[in-house]
Amino acid sequence: MSPANMSGMDRLVERFLSYIAIDTSSDPASDRIPSTAGQLTLGKKLLEELSRLGVRAQMDKNGIVYGHLPANSRKSGLPAIGFVAHMDTPPGLNSRGIRPRFIKNYDGSPIILHEKNQLILAPEQDPFLPGLIGHDLITTDGTTILGADDKAGIAELVTMLDILVHNPGFAHGPVYTAFSVDEEIGRGMACFDPELFPCDFAYTVDIDGNDISCLDYETFCGGWTEVNVLGRPMHPGTGAGILRNACTMAMELHCSLPLRLDPYYSREYEGIIHLAAFTGRPEHAHMRYRVCSFEENVLWEQMHQIERAAKALNTAYGFPAFSVSMRQSSSNIKTCVMRDPRCLEYAKRAMAAAGLLVKHRPIRGGTDGIPLAERGIPAPNLNNGSYHALSFQEMVSVTQMKQCVEIFLKIVSADAPLSPTFLMIR
Ligand SMILES: [Zn+2]
Repeated sequence: MSPANMSGMDRLVERFLSYIAIDTSSDPASDRIPSTAGQLTLGKKLLEELSRLGVRAQMDKNGIVYGHLPANSRKSGLPAIGFVAHMDTPPGLNSRGIRPRFIKNYDGSPIILHEKNQLILAPEQDPFLPGLIGHDLITTDGTTILGADDKAGIAELVTMLDILVHNPGFAHGPVYTAFSVDEEIGRGMACFDPELFPCDFAYTVDIDGNDISCLDYETFCGGWTEVNVLGRPMHPGTGAGILRNACTMAMELHCSLPLRLDPYYSREYEGIIHLAAFTGRPEHAHMRYRVCSFEENVLWEQMHQIERAAKALNTAYGFPAFSVSMRQSSSNIKTCVMRDPRCLEYAKRAMAAAGLLVKHRPIRGGTDGIPLAERGIPAPNLNNGSYHALSFQEMVSVTQMKQCVEIFLKIVSADAPLSPTFLMIR
């Protein structure tokens, strides 16, 4: 029996719809974890659902829901494999009263989401659409997000557990799941408990770009560089030869930085220097730079570049106007992933078996895989079959959600042999 026909798959959509009915947008202004009550509501629902299935489940004090299904295979040496999906949706985008629309057997024509607001999905602007012809889709009505980021991932993982529980003939190794909180505001995984998630390797199941065939395992190394600028204030009418305005000095520093690292121009494997915050008065200015690169030494070089520019201006002005501090905040998960490349091999094998031509792209940002890597768990990202996250055009292919469940089942299967040589992607 193929996984698609196994009992449990039929509840995938019903599950997804029940999750998106709960508003779980996170709130950066809150000092609690989780930042909103909706995430706890969904967490409790998931806890009940997993317990009903017979999965060992618990919720920690921060609202993260952990699940564990022990191996049912007698084979020795099977790795413990984990999956992580996040419960929150992004703050600031309407996520209340989501009214999903269903399109059966999509024919490739433009999809009008909201006529008055002229919100449409069309092949000319959404190049992934022709690849979804024949799929069953779920879209928004154009007035809210859909919440498929990342409730599609959660629905797929619960469905995987459902299928494993109800099909005891399907031999598998130890499986762990974690439904995390506050991913969209970069907080929830700070308190993640690795003792409740003792995996050899794991996968984040989340949207990155618009392509289900991507297996991504490179994230930005991130850092922050703070620049303080002290001006020489004076009455502007009598400041000739004396007044030094901290705001204009700060702008001078910014304009001396390489334009190619501005996020507007940077792409692929190039790094970024992004002016994330700028406050100022003539007497004092402050600049906060988000600095990123895929290589740690390049990240530090970019941060030192800002420092060198500041020092040069101190020399030019003849007084220590600029002071700079810098710190690294995250690392590329690739280093951790490469310590146990089985996580790539297992995923590649499963994706190829599901008929996908496996690709890989650098993730120009972070994932929940970063805090996992900090705890020694390699965790590449698998896409969840959704598209256009963070927008009212957000949509999901039900056909690909089912494909995702099949991929996860193949990953945890005890029976699929590994190829003798690891065929690395790059
Ligand atoms: Zn996400």
